[in-house]
Amino acid sequence: MTPTSITALRVHQLAQEVGLPLVGCAPASAMPELLPTLELYYAQGRASGFEHPVASERVAPQELLPGARALIAVALPYRTSETTSIRRPKGQRGLTSTYIWGEDYHRVLHDKLTLLSERLSQAVKGDVRTVTCVDTSPLLDRAVAVKAGLGWIGKNSCLITEAYGSWVFLGALLTDLEITEMTETEAFASDASALAPLHLDACGDCTLCLTACPTGALREPYVLDSQSCLSYLTQAKGTFPEPYRAALGKRLWGCDTCQTVCPHNKVSLLGDEPRFAPAAELAYPELRDVLRLSRRALMKRYGHTAGAWRGATVWKRNALIALGNMRDHAAVEDIVPYLEDPRPELRSSAAWALERIDPMHTREFVYSAWQKELDKQTKAEMAWAAAHVGDATTARDG
Ligand code: SF4
Ligand code: SF4
Repeated sequence: MTPTSITALRVHQLAQEVGLPLVGCAPASAMPELLPTLELYYAQGRASGFEHPVASERVAPQELLPGARALIAVALPYRTSETTSIRRPKGQRGLTSTYIWGEDYHRVLHDKLTLLSERLSQAVKGDVRTVTCVDTSPLLDRAVAVKAGLGWIGKNSCLITEAYGSWVFLGALLTDLEITEMTETEAFASDASALAPLHLDACGDCTLCLTACPTGALREPYVLDSQSCLSYLTQAKGTFPEPYRAALGKRLWGCDTCQTVCPHNKVSLLGDEPRFAPAAELAYPELRDVLRLSRRALMKRYGHTAGAWRGATVWKRNALIALGNMRDHAAVEDIVPYLEDPRPELRSSAAWALERIDPMHTREFVYSAWQKELDKQTKAEMAWAAAHVGDATTARDG
């Protein structure tokens, strides 16, 4: 064996040592077979806009690390026994996606992959070139995970692992190390669950996720329209599209529905990463608190999570819509000031929420804001109050 070669078994052992329970290795060859599907995804306008924009670079590891020989794909489970036992505190609470209940996975995975890279160098007693990929890398993370045998893609477009279902974060190390194949015996000795077979049709006749999706974003099996997916929409800046506001329900960040209903997630094991220990305030934020907190205070509370990267405004906008959906009369006093907010998406969301909660008693406030409103779209959203202002006067005088 040359100094730049290592067995897959040794890679598995090192990964376990740094707290990465699921790992698979594969050649760093290109995946051109995925290009047509990927290009269609972009061409049909289904991309979220958060992805790397050049399709060909998303399937070409060599673009990221010229001379790369192998990729090491990892999946880190984020649901722990604490996650499953967390209870909704009292009060008007919103809901966030489980993946932000603990520390930002970008940091956690990056730390572990950096450590793994160091361990690889120590193991081969030489310099090892690596590139760490966590979410923001151009490489298509789910395709890399499938290639390395970590799992399969479900009809909900999630990567599903045999051991942990789809409750996993994905990452990868590209390396110029040569990784020699693991024999069946070695695989068994390390961790058989790490080598989940590639179930290409593990969904069978099931369509639970397609039926449960609140917006129809899963257009057909394996076909996700990010533009109508609540997970994307809660993170996108600007005005929240009106057709999806009611479907947002109490969600403040992300959406777990198509994962929650999946039978593969009912039997999955739990992870034990302490940095993913959940906080009830993150899981179920008090909605009126979100409106009352300053930008700085909000970011202090959520800044360490994967839900902070778009800033405080999207949280406030989503909270306004969620309160509208909950028809919480007590929240009116917290919502009304947002009719005067400098951010148009908050003014329009406030007007929308007030109409849902109590149009009769709030239209005077909205009408007053409508009169001063200069933004065309926001003014249009407030127009319901102007149309009935006479009724409001009557209601007040009566
Ligand atoms: Fe639908 Fe929610 Fe899944 Fe997006 S995350 S596809 S909105 S169920
Ligand atoms: Fe597949 Fe059913 Fe899970 Fe959807 S819910 S990913 S169809 S098994």
